Amino acid sequence: MTEPVGVIERLLEELTKLPGIGPKSAERIAHFLAGDRQHAVRLADALHSVADSVRPCRECFNLTDGELCPVCSDPKRDAGLLCVVETPRDVSSFERAGTFRGLYHVLGGRLAPLEGLGPERLTLTALVQRVRKGGVREVILATSPTLEGDGTALFASNLLAPTGVTVTRLARGLPSGSSLELANAQMLADALEGRRTF
Ligand SMILES: [Zn+2]
Repeated sequence: MTEPVGVIERLLEELTKLPGIGPKSAERIAHFLAGDRQHAVRLADALHSVADSVRPCRECFNLTDGELCPVCSDPKRDAGLLCVVETPRDVSSFERAGTFRGLYHVLGGRLAPLEGLGPERLTLTALVQRVRKGGVREVILATSPTLEGDGTALFASNLLAPTGVTVTRLARGLPSGSSLELANAQMLADALEGRRTF
């Protein structure tokens, strides 16, 4: 038999690895779940579904539970406009803002040479292939307004240059040094509206 204490400790250990959950919150959640079987089972079920079915979209690398994400499978979206972002959370930020009607390309992070994160870790090759397939008029580089985000955008624009596609960058005005997640809907809409050629 497993010791009940060990079980809770294991849960605490996993909870504290989650972003935004400190030891105190982890303890609160763990004890709440330990005392509410129905809730614990529903949460476990939801976590299983995520683990089993969520994967990168075949086209844009956004997270989805199908072959294509909801954005890529929407025929009303403008396939000529590609917005390049770092993470699936950035896609959510733009979608919440609700003004962008094109498609996305999720890089899977940004270049961080000092941490050994090179271009091979990102979906840059797939991005160039997507553009080469044709039908894309403009690529909007919407990496975060940080040194690394700017570096990633510059790198991507150099890779895209031989394809002849128009490459733009979000307008400044987003809080510098932060991630897109912190920008509100209006700020994102303005940054998109005021984008300029790279
Ligand atoms: Zn997609």
